Amino acid sequence: MRKPFVAGNWKMNTDGHTGTNLAEAIASATVEVAGQSVDVAVCPPFVYLQAVAGVLSASHIALGAQDVYIESKGAFTGEIGASMLKDVGCAYVLCGHSERRHVIGEPDELINKKVAAAISGGLLPILCVGELIEERQASRTEEVVTRQMKNGLAGLSAEKVSAVTIAYEPVWAIGTGLTATPQQAQQMHALVRKLLAQTYDGQLAEGIRILYGGSVKPGSAADLMRQKDIDGLLVGGASLNADDFVAIIKAAV
Ligand code: PEP
Repeated sequence: MRKPFVAGNWKMNTDGHTGTNLAEAIASATVEVAGQSVDVAVCPPFVYLQAVAGVLSASHIALGAQDVYIESKGAFTGEIGASMLKDVGCAYVLCGHSERRHVIGEPDELINKKVAAAISGGLLPILCVGELIEERQASRTEEVVTRQMKNGLAGLSAEKVSAVTIAYEPVWAIGTGLTATPQQAQQMHALVRKLLAQTYDGQLAEGIRILYGGSVKPGSAADLMRQKDIDGLLVGGASLNADDFVAIIKAAV
């Protein structure tokens, strides 16, 4: 009942030319599945959103941004608001990606405001959660993800939370070539769904898509997708290669 969802996070990669070529290649190879048996989104850097939107306009691939500011407009030099992202064609936005948490230093409270701002601005946030390797080694994985979920969604009504997608992305698996085993991922996805059911209700929790992210490759996608609570994949490195990303999309159908 939850349609699979595969999103590609291009991070700070591509340029105008390679980005539009990549989008075109993905769109043409997924015509028969994208938006039908699987939802697909790509998240290019801000400056290429509009160009990529142009390429995707005739497709059923959605556009996402990698970040959003907490205010909608005003004197916030360098920031981008939700209405601007909507204006250039974004449907989704990543909030709290691990690189923003751990490289840029975003705390849970800021991420919570970004999730709220995204929803108020008509975007569908993808809230990323996941533990560091030291936290896993100290058996703190569940505690960390529980805190990130609770703080990330704080103050949001059930109606608002129904617009959210969660991405469980263990930080030690992002960009490292290490992937959580399907069993490790399923265990955390089940926890995320349980937290949603406890905080809101079972029906809402059953309707929310929970993506797995962390070095997903064509060879690992199908096994991950076979898990009961894995509804899709958030893909970084492999989303920059059209053949690999298309193979991952097809494995998720
Ligand atoms: C990501 O950027 O969210 C990600 C999961 O990256 P990678 O697939 O490269 O690990």
